[in-house]
Amino acid sequence: MNTEQLLQRLEEDGIDHLWPVYHDYNGLACAKTVPRMRFASVVENGIVFARANLNFTTDDQQAYGARFLADSGDFMAVPDPSSYTILPYRQRTAQAHVFMRQEDGAPWDGCPRTRLQLMVDRLAAAGYSAQVALEPEFTLFYADGSGEYMPVDHDGMFTVDGLDRNYDFLQELVETLDAMGIQMEQLGKEYGPGQYEGSTRHGDPIRAVDQYLIYKQVARALARDAGMIATFMPKPYAHLPGNGLHVHLSLWDTAGQQDLTVGANANEPLSAIGQHFVGGLLAHARALTGVGACTVNSYKRLLPASWAPAHICWGVGNRAALVRIPGLGARRHLEFRAGDNSANPYFYITALLAAGLDGIARQLDPGAPANVDVGHLSAAEAAAAGIQFLPRTLPEALDALEKDAVIMDALGPVIGPEFLKVKWTELDAYNVEVHGWERNSYLQTL
Ligand code: GLU
Ligand code: MG
Repeated sequence: MNTEQLLQRLEEDGIDHLWPVYHDYNGLACAKTVPRMRFASVVENGIVFARANLNFTTDDQQAYGARFLADSGDFMAVPDPSSYTILPYRQRTAQAHVFMRQEDGAPWDGCPRTRLQLMVDRLAAAGYSAQVALEPEFTLFYADGSGEYMPVDHDGMFTVDGLDRNYDFLQELVETLDAMGIQMEQLGKEYGPGQYEGSTRHGDPIRAVDQYLIYKQVARALARDAGMIATFMPKPYAHLPGNGLHVHLSLWDTAGQQDLTVGANANEPLSAIGQHFVGGLLAHARALTGVGACTVNSYKRLLPASWAPAHICWGVGNRAALVRIPGLGARRHLEFRAGDNSANPYFYITALLAAGLDGIARQLDPGAPANVDVGHLSAAEAAAAGIQFLPRTLPEALDALEKDAVIMDALGPVIGPEFLKVKWTELDAYNVEVHGWERNSYLQTL
C-alpha cells in the first residue's frame, strides 16, 4: 500500500481518528490521535514528537547524560502504510506503525524500526532472509483495592477450565486480532495462576514484531476494558512464574524458498549455517540479555530450574537451554528464550540477527548440545561442562552490552548509547529506593 492507497483505505473504512504509533527505547507504545482533516498531511509528512521523549525512563525521568534534551528538536513519525490496521474495539479509529524520520524527511538512525530494517537489508546482502515468530506470556490480574494484585484464576497449565473461565476475554482477543489481519497461532493457559501464552504467526522480522506489538497492545486494552490487568512484566511476584518472550527464528535464502538453518536428518539438528548462527547467539548471549531482558525485574525471572534460562547453552527439545531446537521434525527451528517483554522488540530482533550473522561470518562452533536440565547442575558441574551463567543482574548485562562491539554496532550510534543511558538511569532509581522486602526483613529485626 502506498500513501495514496492508505488515504483511500482510511476513507473506505470510515476512520475519523488515526494513531501513528512508535515504540520508545523502553518499548512503550506511544502515539497521538490525529483527526480526519489532518490525514493527508500526516500520511505524507508524519507527525511531530520531541526527540527528548526517547531518552525517558518508564516513569518519565530524563536519562542522565541524555543526548536528546529540551533543545534537541523533533522527529517526524511517518505512518508506514503496510502496517495500517483498524482498531475494531474502538470507534472509527485506526493506527499504523511509523518510521521516525528527520524533519526534512530523511531516514533517521534513532528509529528502532529503521534499525531493524537495516539489519534485514544486511541479511539480504549476505544472501539470507529471516523468519521470526514471537511467543509472549502474560499474567491476568485484578487490583484488589489495597495496592496488591490478584491472579484472575488458579487454573493449571493447558487446562480447559483455564480457557473457559476467561472465555469472553480470550475469544474477544482472538477475534479482534483476526479482524485486524493478525493471525494467532494459538492461545492457552500457561503454568501459573492467571498466566497465559499466545503466539502470532511467523513472518519477516518487521512484520513479526509489528504483529507482536499489536497483540500486546490489544491484550492490554481488552483486559483493561474488562476490569483486569494483562501484564507482560517479567516477574510480577516472586512466587509466580515469570513472563518470557521466546523468539523463534530461522534463516532462509533471499527468495524465502529454502530453510538454511535446519540439518538434513535427525542426527544432524542444524545445518553448518544453523550451527554457526547458534554459535553467534551463544557468543553474544550476555549482551543479548542486556537488550532482551533489560529491567532489574528481568533477572528475578532468569533463575536456574525455572524454565527460563540462566545458563548459556543450546539443546534439542530442552526447555532449560538458552537456545532450544524445539524438535527434529517439521517444526525444526531456533528458539532464543532469555528475553522478555520489557525489551523494545525492534532492538532485540536486530541484536539477535546481528549475533547470528557474526556467528556465520566467524564460523563459530556452538559446542555439544546440553541434554540435561542445566538449571539443576551445581555451579561446579556446570563449569566442568563448560557452561557459563547468563548475567545474573541487570548491571552485569548492561556492562556486557556496552562491551559488545557487534551488538552495539547493530543498534547504531544513536540507539546503542542512548538505550544504555536510559537503562542505567532506571537502575539508579531502583537502587536508591527502599523496597518492601528490606522493611519486612530489617525494620523490626535490626
Ligand atoms: N515462563 C517461562 C519463561 O519465563 C517459560 C515457560 C515455557 O517454556 O513456556 O521463560
Ligand atoms: Mg510458555
